[in-house]
Amino acid sequence: MSIFDLTGRVAVITGGNGGIGLGIAQALAAAGCNVSIWGRNADKNKAAAATMAGAKGKIDTHVCDVSDAASVKAAMAATLGSFGRVDGCFANAGIGGGGRRAFIDRTEEEWRTMFATNLDGVFHVFQAAARHMTERAASGDAFGRLVATSSLASLFGTARNEHYAATKAGINALCRALAVELARHGVTANAILPGWIKSDMTAGIMANDKFVANVMPRIPVRRFGEPSDFGGIAVYLMSKASSYHTADCFVIDGGYTAF
Ligand code: NDP
Repeated sequence: MSIFDLTGRVAVITGGNGGIGLGIAQALAAAGCNVSIWGRNADKNKAAAATMAGAKGKIDTHVCDVSDAASVKAAMAATLGSFGRVDGCFANAGIGGGGRRAFIDRTEEEWRTMFATNLDGVFHVFQAAARHMTERAASGDAFGRLVATSSLASLFGTARNEHYAATKAGINALCRALAVELARHGVTANAILPGWIKSDMTAGIMANDKFVANVMPRIPVRRFGEPSDFGGIAVYLMSKASSYHTADCFVIDGGYTAF
């Protein structure tokens, strides 16, 4: 059996109904993992599940708003009801900055909304998953994977989008802290930092010729990333092969940061 065969494993993917999250879900399901997709839009959830019909792993979906602790608790209970366990939690749901604006004009509401989804959301889903994983570890079944989708914005001085950058830097720190705290329960924690990836979030900016002409020469592989570019890292992180790999920030950006 392949070291990357995930048969019998169960992963939650928040924001798994589109973009990077769907790329992660499809790769995991193809590797045999049972996949639970959490997103706010039931129709999008169902459409995403339909793209995985016939995959080795089973798929279920739950309507969930990660910014709402009660909604996350209900989704976790529903996933445990369907599959009996959760081995991996991909906290991928996130919102972008929308229209950029000067920091001195940033509204309290914009700041709070950004944090509610991008950072409070990760807190809610990781806490729900970690509670289950540590309970299972106490009964002798120690295996857990926490993976959050951060951003290159956490590394750069992301002007006029500082609220987004701050949530993503918070994710990096949260993953490192959890990696240390939860290692004794067999739980690893890592962040993924995508570069410029084609999705609903970036469709607007990527339709701007000036933006493309400016950014493309700075991407050594000379293309924007695709959601499927995140399948390999997801399967690796869900597998036993990554047991000794924790507290890392995986930059997946076609070489953008190296240039
Ligand atoms: P998409 O807009 O395609 O996907 C975002 C996903 O998050 C959707 O599935 C959406 O589903 C879900 N979502 C948003 N808010 C909530 C919420 N409150 N509760 C539950 N689900 C929610 O964007 P991407 O795939 O690009 O983004 C995925 C992650 O990658 C984000 O965290 C983003 O910050 C990060 N990222 C993306 C980059 C890029 O270039 N695309 C670069 C760096 C980081 P629904 O609307 O149904 O809830």
